[in-house]
Order: sequence, then C-alpha cells, then structure tokens
Amino acid sequence: MAGEPQADCLFCKIVSGEVPATVIRETDTTVAFRDINPQAPTHVLVIPKVHYPDAVSLAAAEPRIAADVLVETGAVAAHEKIDGTGYRVVFNTGSGAGQTVFHTHAHVLGGRGLNWPPG
Ligand code: 5GP
Repeated sequence: MAGEPQADCLFCKIVSGEVPATVIRETDTTVAFRDINPQAPTHVLVIPKVHYPDAVSLAAAEPRIAADVLVETGAVAAHEKIDGTGYRVVFNTGSGAGQTVFHTHAHVLGGRGLNWPPG
C-alpha cells in the first residue's frame, strides 16, 4: 500500500530504529539525521516517515507531509545555525541525478560556500 514501510528500504529502517542514525530532530511526520558521508560541514537528511520513492511522488500523494519536509529543512538550518548565511536544499530525483536511496529525502547542506551550478 502507498506510503507503507518497505522491508528493503534503508531509510524506512532508520525511521523504525532498526538502522541507527544520528537523529537531530524528529516530528510526527519527519526525521532529520546526519548524512553518513557529509559533503559539507552541515549535511543533514530530512525524510518523511512514510515511504515514497521521491519528492514528487510524496507531494502528489501526501502534499501536507511534503510541506512538512520542506518546513523541517528550515528548522534544521536554524538548528545548525546556517540559516543566516544560507544553505541548499536538494532532492536528487532519479539515478541519473545521483539518487541512490529511493525513499524521499531532502539534503540540507551548508556551513561552507556552495557553488552554482552544482556538479
Ligand atoms: P541520494 O544519493 O539518494 O540523493 O542520497 C542518499 C544519501 O544517503 C547519501 O548522501 C548517502 O551518503 C546517505 N546515506 C547512505 N546510507 C546511509 C546510512 O546508512 N546512514 C546515513 N545517515 N546516511 C546514509
């Protein structure tokens, strides 16, 4: 059923606690934890607790939870004190764009200068 936990999904296992993570914030609908391979001084992933493979499918099915994820990226930026200097929110979507985990996640990156366009 749409949104249900998937047995083979790494981020569903982080939601359930089966796989450990450095969780910095949790809400009724989201979990925010540090990326295991950080690309910036702050690199936090914000995920919905429900399972959808990418941000667009989440937004189509559960727009309020998609909004929760976005709002939570701002809360993470404030928590990490990068909201003043600026930060980047990235949803890699599809393997050609570098998506490797097919459970919606927002990367929150900051704490250093960020180039544009991204690589
Ligand atoms: P994607 O490449 O799908 O946009 O992002 C997946 C992210 O998940 C990567 O930045 C990767 O470093 C991170 N990641 C992969 N496995 C784990 C893990 O077991 N724990 C944590 N905290 N992050 C992970």
